[in-house]
Amino acid sequence: MNLESELERLKKELERARFELSVFYEITQAMRSTLRLEEILYVILTGITAHQGLGFNRALLFLVDFENKLIKGKMGIGPVSREEADKIWKWIREEKKELMDLLKEYHRIKERKPELFRMVEELAFPLEGSDTVLQQVFSEGLPIFIKSHQAAGLENDVLVKKFDLEEFVIVPLWAQDKIIGAILVDNFVTKRPITPSDIKILNMFSSQAALAIENSKLYEDTLWRSHVDSLTGLWNHGYFQFKLKEEFDKNLQRDTPLSLLMIDIDNFKDYNDKFGHMEGDKVLVRVAEIIREESRKTDYPCRYGGEEFSVILSGISKKDATSIAERIRQRIEKEEFLRRITVSIGVVSFPQDASDRQTLIRMADNYLYQAKAAGKDRVSTGK
Ligand code: GH3
Ligand code: MG
Ligand code: MG
Repeated sequence: MNLESELERLKKELERARFELSVFYEITQAMRSTLRLEEILYVILTGITAHQGLGFNRALLFLVDFENKLIKGKMGIGPVSREEADKIWKWIREEKKELMDLLKEYHRIKERKPELFRMVEELAFPLEGSDTVLQQVFSEGLPIFIKSHQAAGLENDVLVKKFDLEEFVIVPLWAQDKIIGAILVDNFVTKRPITPSDIKILNMFSSQAALAIENSKLYEDTLWRSHVDSLTGLWNHGYFQFKLKEEFDKNLQRDTPLSLLMIDIDNFKDYNDKFGHMEGDKVLVRVAEIIREESRKTDYPCRYGGEEFSVILSGISKKDATSIAERIRQRIEKEEFLRRITVSIGVVSFPQDASDRQTLIRMADNYLYQAKAAGKDRVSTGK
């Protein structure tokens, strides 16, 4: 064997190993910088696709929804066309972007979700099925490497069709003893062949990624629980205050209205005294459900206190808020409980009733009090 060429080979191998380590280091650092799931996923995918990362052209990430037994498309990074690829990579190269910069970039791009991102988000497959190569990875628990000639035989595979896959790899994301997701990568644009060394580092990377995803899920779960009222599932008082400030500032800036409903159950003490606290709790749960059903996705139905509820209606005028309040009142009145239950509601709006947040809450209380004083079971708008 030629000593010189052997030395050359070893040198190359060493360089490659050093490169892999530095990529690893950088991605792990970036993953540590956030606990938010969507940011973690973005770091993972940019790490896989960015030029100074693993350098794949495209990466698609799937996560398991264990409750509904589905494999869901979560995020996809990479160009849908050659032109887009060139544009992104020119930007990375010329502006010498680092992974951390990409993370900042994420919040800018997520507003105008790129096409690949949207295509991935539409996908969902039954966890237990075996129609696609992706599902196979979940049932077998091992990475799958599909060569171009093999992909030709998979033309009925939804993923192969949808993304024009030729040569590609799917690695499962193992967290302890279960598969929580999978990552698919390919070199759609450059057609650079995928090497054993690519697969090796992708495998190493996937266990780091799975761990980071698990941690972030735990974190988001805890965060979620600390904002939600455990009895009714509505947002709790702390979150109400936080969101009201955020939504108030947002609408102030945009010069759009914001309305607030303050809802209090009438004579609830009597109900508790007569039927007991447990029965009282059932009423609270049902009333909360009705309030939630009458709210839009963009509203914030909250449990303000004991038997008081509040709904933040962002961008909603007083007139519309009053109709929503009236609908809630009528539905609760018609609901069958051990005894008829009614509510009184105060409706306030920015900018009509108040120009700051504290006054808005105070006025809502005032109007609620007016509704009570006028005989309960009614909506008061302060007129
Ligand atoms: P009003 O029509 O003036 O509102 O009369 P009210 O009896 O509802 O008076 P108030 O709002 O002051 O009373 C609140 C009562 O709500 C006191 C308590 O018995 C009941 N309550 C508060 N929190 C809970 C809870 O978490 N569970 C149950 N079961 N009852 C609660
Ligand atoms: Mg009360
Ligand atoms: Mg009450």
